[in-house]
Parts: sequence; structure tokens; C-alpha cells
Amino acid sequence: MPLQRQAKWDLGIALLGLLASSVLLQQLDGFEWLYQLSRQHEAWQLDELLLSMMLMPLVLSWFSYRRWQEAQQASAELQHQALFDPLTQLPNRTHFTQLLQDACNQDDGGNISVMLLDLDNFQALNRRYGAAFGDQLLLVISQRLWGCLDLCDQLARFGSDEFALISGHCDSQQRAINMAERILLMCRTPVHIDGVEVRLSASIGISSRSAELGQQQPEHLLRQANNAMHDAKLNGKDGYVCFNVDDSQCKQVQQQQRQRFKRALQHNELQLYLQPQVALGSGKVIGAEALLRWHHPQQGLRFPDSFLTATEQHPLAVELGEWVLEQGLQQLLRWQQQGIQLKLSVNITPYHLLQPDFLSRLQLLIARYPDAPRHRLQIEVVETNNLTDLRHAADTMRQCGLLGVKFALDDFGSGHSSLTYLRELPAQVLKIDRSFTRDIMEDYNDLVVVKAMIRLGYTYGLEVLAEGIETEAQQQKLHSLGCGYGQGYLYAKALPPQEFDAWLQTQP
Ligand code: C2E
Ligand code: MG
Ligand code: MG
Repeated sequence: MPLQRQAKWDLGIALLGLLASSVLLQQLDGFEWLYQLSRQHEAWQLDELLLSMMLMPLVLSWFSYRRWQEAQQASAELQHQALFDPLTQLPNRTHFTQLLQDACNQDDGGNISVMLLDLDNFQALNRRYGAAFGDQLLLVISQRLWGCLDLCDQLARFGSDEFALISGHCDSQQRAINMAERILLMCRTPVHIDGVEVRLSASIGISSRSAELGQQQPEHLLRQANNAMHDAKLNGKDGYVCFNVDDSQCKQVQQQQRQRFKRALQHNELQLYLQPQVALGSGKVIGAEALLRWHHPQQGLRFPDSFLTATEQHPLAVELGEWVLEQGLQQLLRWQQQGIQLKLSVNITPYHLLQPDFLSRLQLLIARYPDAPRHRLQIEVVETNNLTDLRHAADTMRQCGLLGVKFALDDFGSGHSSLTYLRELPAQVLKIDRSFTRDIMEDYNDLVVVKAMIRLGYTYGLEVLAEGIETEAQQQKLHSLGCGYGQGYLYAKALPPQEFDAWLQTQP
């Protein structure tokens, strides 16, 4: 039972106990009964018996209250850590994307500009004077940036020396340009820390929402601002660039990428590599995740991040997802025939899961492989923050569960409302995002978040698997925190299936 609900039950039962014991003592001759009890047992004193009887429910109430308080605290901590940068306390990238989405959703959402600011040569200063000096510098810059904002603006830190701003106002692009000029001036003002004077500059990319560009969504605005920021760097730094593109040209490129990818699907250029998943306690391999690779005839081996963007929110994502599911079932069947009993995780997008016929098509697919052990198939839903219809997703997942198929929430902690997904979606596994595992040994904040995630996972009755384990130390830490399973280069990278099977033979 989830911790919070359990705590409420405990509290209720303890209070009832308190009530019952007072009634017993007052109404039902309880004192007489206790007195007789103390006489029958010489070692028992009447006043001690009375006191224990009165105190027990109080003690129980106190423990249940503490449990409830802990669960509340863990959930609040996680929410804060997931949304704010620990150094500057500014919103982080996840929170910023949500704020940007909110700004885009407003009635006058046409007038928004996004600015990405990257400090020039900051890493060199960091190396020269040390990380503590770098942190102080970032704090000074974030405070100065605050000074350049109006009430309708938002500021965030994306990590390292990168900041982001939303400028929301009519004639937003001109206003953003004025603000960029002010910020550049502010950055050039020398900073004094511990007797050292440093002079900084910044490169800024601006992208504005516009009807000609099809009222871009947050991810497009950010990508465009990022491109513009890189152009500002190429232009010699210490300046700003406004993004400007011929939209039709952009669309044409995407169309070509999709056609090429469709051909790759038809010509067997795609393959699922397998990465092992292990039980942290015993080190035993319990399954594998299937990760997509493209053997491009000209460009060689390509990784998903370099080609999946073109399929986003497009029927091609469904075609790919169905291919992945079919390959997954075939792999499970092959293992079954070799006597290997491992789980297999495959990745699909929210766009695919939300298709109205997802369930019926999965049923058809499963029917084509009746001997494949479908109860070992696990579906990882990637980019869960694109799950626009949670109720529909939850219904579909529940129906798939009746077929024996399980679900995992991928990259947990990186989406803006992971807690909601945890509560609403009937998943069996929570996968802690690699970005948290990476710095768990050095970054106390990440450690706190991971602890809270593990606790939350178990609170909601899920198995917890940490992604991206690269060192023994990370493995031991995660195991000591109660994380059950792991995946990462420490065990193996994703391997072609034959190599995976050979690797499996080497395992105890
Ligand atoms: P993911 O599902 O979170 O997969 C984990 C990614 O982390 C994989 O990258 C894996 O190779 C990498 N990884 C695993 N362990 C380590 C480690 O210890 N250190 C480091 N640095 N990296 C590690 P990959 O294969 O490039 O996949 C990237 C993402 O592409 C996946 O993230 C998933 O979101 C998406 N993807 C992969 N295959 C598919 C697919 O078949 N369909 C869909 N829709 N998306 C896929
Ligand atoms: Mg995955
Ligand atoms: Mg992941």
C-alpha cells in the first residue's frame, strides 16, 4: 500500500485504539479488569499497565504521523529539485519549458521572445580560478540578469554558463533586442571576487514567436534560439543574433529526412541493439533494453538522437514503433527457443501510445507470435512529458496489462510533471534518468533527488531501475539507497543481439 495512504490508515487505527481504550477503561469496568490482571501477575503493576494502555495509541499515532510527514517531505523535495537550479535557485530547463508552454498557451501567446545566453570563455575562467570561483561568478551574473527583467519576464538557468529568458510583451522582438543590448552591457561590467577582477561577455540568441513561422511550440523556439546563439558565437561573440528562417525550406528538409528514414525501415537498415539490465543485489542479468541503431550505407552507424527528431509527432513514429514491437517479440521468441528467460524492454513514443487503435494493433501483433512470451515484454514510454492525454494513456496501459505486457516510465525526473505520471499511469517500473545517476557521487543535490525518487517509486509500488551506471561506486551507492535494478556501461553498452548472447554466456 502506498506510504501516504498507509500512514493515514495507521493514524486512523491508532486514534480508534485511543478512543477504544478510554471507552474500555471508563465504561466497561476496565479498571477492575486491569486490577485483576495485575493481581494475577505479580510482576505487573497496575499503574504501569494503565499507563502502557493509554500511551500505546499515542506512540502509534506519533510514528504514523512521522511516516506521513516523511512522505510529504520527500515529495516536496523532489518537486523542488526537479524544477529549480540548486546553485542560483532559478527555474531549470524543465521548469522553464513549462513556463514557456504556459506563455504560448495564453491568448496573446503570439508575442513571446525567447533568449538563450551563453557566457563567453567561462570554462577558461572556471579552470583558472576553480569551480567555487566559477559558482560565485554565476551567482553575480544571475543577480545582474534579474536586474534587467520586468515583471512579465522569466529567467532560468539551463546548467553550466547557459541562461534562458522569456520576454513577453507586445512587439516582443524589439523589446527582446533592447533587453539583449542591456544585458550585454551589464555582462561587460567588471566583476570583483576575492580580490580578482574579471571581465565577461556573452553571446545571445533570440527567437520570436511569429505567425509566419506557424506560431512555434516551445521546443522549436528553444532550438531556434540555440541556433541563433551559436551564430552569435561564430560572429565573434559578445553580441546577439535573431533567428530568421525560411519556414518552407525547413519543412522541406524534414520531409526529405522522413522519406530517407522510411526507406531505411523498408530496406532493413535498422537494427535493435541490446543493453543488459541487472539486479543490483546479486549482479544477475534480468533483462535487456532494445535500443535502435541505423546502419546507414554512407554514414555508418547512426544513433537515435541523430535521426528520431524528424519522426516526432508524425505517423512515421507509429510505423517505427510497430516495427520495434514486432522485433521485440521476435527476439523474445528466439530467446525462448534457446532457453533464455530474460525480460525485454522496447521504447515507444507517447504519440504512438495515444493512437486510438494502439491496443487492437498490439493484440494483432501478439496473435502473430503466439509462442512468444509476451509477459516478458516491457514497453518504455519515452518523453512522457508529451503524453497529452493522461487518462487515455492510462486506460490503454491498463488494457495492455491484461494482455500481460508491462510498462516502464523512462527518463524519470527529466519531465516536468513526473509526479503526476507516477500517480496516474499504471506502470510497473520507474527508470531514473541518467542525468541524475551521472553525478550521484559528486553532487549532493542529485543524491537527494535520487533518494527521494527511489522512495517515491516504492511508495507507488514500482520497481526502480537506475540508468547510466558507469562505475562500481555508483552501483554500490544506488544499491545502498535501495534501488533494485540498474543498467549502464559498467555492465555493457548496447550490443548487436549475437554479441549480447555471447556476452551473456560470460556472466556467472
Ligand atoms: P533511453 O531509452 O533512455 O536509452 C538509454 C540511452 O542511454 C541509450 O542511448 C543508451 O545507449 C545510453 N546509455 C546507457 N547506459 C549508459 C551509460 O552508462 N552511460 C552513457 N553515457 N549512456 C548510456 P541511445 O541508444 O543513443 O538512445 C537514446 C534515446 O533514443 C533513448 O533513451 C530513447 O529515448 C531513444 N530510443 C532508442 N531506441 C528507440 C526506439 O526503438 N524507439 C524510440 N521511439 N526511441 C528510441
Ligand atoms: Mg528507454
Ligand atoms: Mg532512459
